[in-house]
Amino acid sequence: MKKVLVTGGCGFIGANFIHMVLRRFEDLRLVNLDKLTYAGNLRNLEAVADDPRYRFVKGDICDQALVEELFAEEGIDTVVHFAAESHVDRSIEGPGAFIQANIVGTFTLLEAARKHWLSDPSAPVAPRFLHVSTDEVYGSLGETGYFTEATPYDPRSPYSASKAASDHLASAYFHTYGLPVLITNCSNNYGPFQFPEKLIPLVVHNALRGQALPVYGDGKNVRDWLYVEDHCEAVLAVLAGGKLGETYNIGGNNEKQNIEIVHLICDLLDEKIGLLVEGRTRRSLITFVKDRPGHDRRYAIDAGKIARDLGWQPRVRFEEGMRRTVQWYLDNPEWVEGVVSGEYQAYYHRMYGER
Ligand code: NAD
Repeated sequence: MKKVLVTGGCGFIGANFIHMVLRRFEDLRLVNLDKLTYAGNLRNLEAVADDPRYRFVKGDICDQALVEELFAEEGIDTVVHFAAESHVDRSIEGPGAFIQANIVGTFTLLEAARKHWLSDPSAPVAPRFLHVSTDEVYGSLGETGYFTEATPYDPRSPYSASKAASDHLASAYFHTYGLPVLITNCSNNYGPFQFPEKLIPLVVHNALRGQALPVYGDGKNVRDWLYVEDHCEAVLAVLAGGKLGETYNIGGNNEKQNIEIVHLICDLLDEKIGLLVEGRTRRSLITFVKDRPGHDRRYAIDAGKIARDLGWQPRVRFEEGMRRTVQWYLDNPEWVEGVVSGEYQAYYHRMYGER
């Protein structure tokens, strides 16, 4: 039986991953260690809270005593490390939390794994430490080209710099100590349970309420988008077959300008729930706002290695994934209301003013 520690499982991708794993594997024990920051939400896992295979532990990945206790008590043999401060804009406002969670937190987990897997005679057989990271570590591209696993790191925001540092630490633990590390660098995810500070849920949320849709700069920044379940499938593929010490890029072959995404959401909502008052389309809500400092122009991923070596391909087409995502937000108004009260309001007004 696998004994899996998932960190950050109450966040967007972690929650989707836990649902998938508990659906798919009978014989496993899964411990979710999450600090429940503003981005962590226990409601994301309400449906599995009573599953006897699942245990939630509220705690910080920087808490060395707690992390070591979990390794020892649970006999952890697999770590899937999602926990992080994950929002670029917040990292510009306050980088300290990113240094702590993303760098010190990853270091603390790596140390615990080293101690329990490499120097304990009762260590588990064939353990794995999968460190989940982002394509943002590679910096920004021009009009052409793709990030490969060999692209030099060039992080440009405090968020991406802290993720880059954590990737280097994970890689160093493989080379220095032989810790069984795997690293994944993925492009932008979208899907259910995403906190509405990120582009897609923010636009859905505002467009539903007839509020302004803030778009940075000229809206032409390009990102590669991947449906969250495809990312979770890729993480499972790397865990099952990835070569230790290696990095796998994960992407959707799906480059879109931000403004194209905003248009698509507006059109989907107009179609699903009708136009705004006086027959206005939701595109009329679009408001261009001052660009984010150091806003990377284009990210694009070459996911050829994971396709060739592990047979992983994205399955959910973008239009289908966006339909599912918009429908999920329509079907879960209580979830949305629960996360946009309180701190979110203060954050939103700091970022976008009183619109
Ligand atoms: P998220 O912000 O939605 O969730 C992060 C979770 O980590 C939250 O539940 C939070 O409570 C928890 N957490 C934060 N600090 C913690 C700490 N010190 N101790 C314990 N728990 C802590 O993030 P997400 O979008 O689900 O991203 C998950 C991971 O995937 C991150 O490492 C991120 O860098 C990476 N990633 C995200 C994307 C994306 O598009 N969202 C793309 C590529 C990679």
